[in-house]
Amino acid sequence: MLRNDQLAEWDRDNFFHPSTHLAQFARGELTHRVIKTGTNCHIEDRDGNKMLDAFAGLYCVNVGYGRQDIADAIAAQAKELAYYHAYVGHGTEASITLSKMILDRAPANMSKVYFGQSGSDANETNVKLIWYYNNILGRPEKKKIISRWRGYHGSGLVTGSLTGLELFHKKFDLPLAQVVHTEAPYYFRRADLDQSEEQFTAHCVAELEALIEREGADTIAAFIGEPVLGTGGIVPPPVGYWTAIQKVLKKHDILLVVDEVVTGFGRLGTMFGSEHYGLEADLITIAKGLTSAYAPLSGSIVGEKMWKVLEQGTDENGPIGHGWTYSAHPIGAAAGVANLKLLDELDLIANNRDVGSYLNKTMTEALGDHANVGEVRGEGMLCAVEFVKDRDSRSFFDAADKVGPQIAAALGADAVIARAMPQGDILGFAPPFCLTRAEADEVVQKTAKAVKTVL
Ligand code: PLP
Repeated sequence: MLRNDQLAEWDRDNFFHPSTHLAQFARGELTHRVIKTGTNCHIEDRDGNKMLDAFAGLYCVNVGYGRQDIADAIAAQAKELAYYHAYVGHGTEASITLSKMILDRAPANMSKVYFGQSGSDANETNVKLIWYYNNILGRPEKKKIISRWRGYHGSGLVTGSLTGLELFHKKFDLPLAQVVHTEAPYYFRRADLDQSEEQFTAHCVAELEALIEREGADTIAAFIGEPVLGTGGIVPPPVGYWTAIQKVLKKHDILLVVDEVVTGFGRLGTMFGSEHYGLEADLITIAKGLTSAYAPLSGSIVGEKMWKVLEQGTDENGPIGHGWTYSAHPIGAAAGVANLKLLDELDLIANNRDVGSYLNKTMTEALGDHANVGEVRGEGMLCAVEFVKDRDSRSFFDAADKVGPQIAAALGADAVIARAMPQGDILGFAPPFCLTRAEADEVVQKTAKAVKTVL
């Protein structure tokens, strides 16, 4: 086995880490941790330090670490057939079975699954399919996509543009011109403190209407949103939001893309977030929970209305010119099949409803009244604590105060992993679905302790 100091040197000299402060890493100011193994909600590094991973990797290891069934399915598939492509009608038992399992679980009126590798490429696929669709329908002007500030949809060129977080735009010349942003449905951060939740929903809807008016409905193809804002701060929408937004979209013939990369396959306590909020999507993006990250796999679930047009388009234009070498990769598909079976067999979504609401309740009891906690919020197995400088005036810390990162670091030193969300002082929790009540207690108690050491 390689020595730790040797690995650290190779890491520093060779490895370009994503979403990392490169200069701080080079100076040795960031935690250097080599993860070796994992079981259920815990991971362990090479030095034998065990941590409770209350963010499930990047909210993706939904069934928990170390699942033998999924590892066996991957190994069996690799031995039998590691790869064959899915072009011009090819498939494997795993990829065909998985497409059926997804459609069986998906909301009504969904028709087919296009497989990719990551949430980003699935959203890239969505935008291309939307453009293709409107071109086939003879509406070449109807191309812009509306996204929300604080939405997260990936970090490619189009998907980084859809993402409404400054860090993902800065110095990358994003967003591209085809993407326009509207108000984040973030009640806690509303500008007008006198607004009720209902009034704030009406304000978000009015902002959307005004944007459509300004741009012209005949230039706007689609609206993309996560059922609950994820990376933007773990923010459930204000009351009535999705019902009102969908009315506007229908009125202007604007397609709805529901990005369920985080919420798909159970995180909110229902199979899809769409069920939870009554969303009628034209396209649904899935990734993370599809395989619980045991292998990279994503998908765009295409609704019936779009599918008919796409099919007709190929009669006029030839085969659809959009394909990835690794689309429907057999190993990813085998992982997906085993993962979805496990989700059912262990009844993990029911556990989310129970332990997720317990986590949110106990976190609120422990921290809800703290002078520097503005809000504790969540849904299903998602929870966030937002810190403020002053509770009454709701003033925020400066980014330089690094309150969120400091609390996350203090918690990490106490063997619990939470995520300091990238914009604002928000600590995010998205544990694996197998979290127990005792583990939820540990997360809450240690979070309260970490908050005390920093604030
Ligand atoms: N969409 C949402 C809602 C996400 O949270 C993410 C990633 O966190 C993505 C898309 C992008 O997925 P990936 O990182 O697999 O490209």
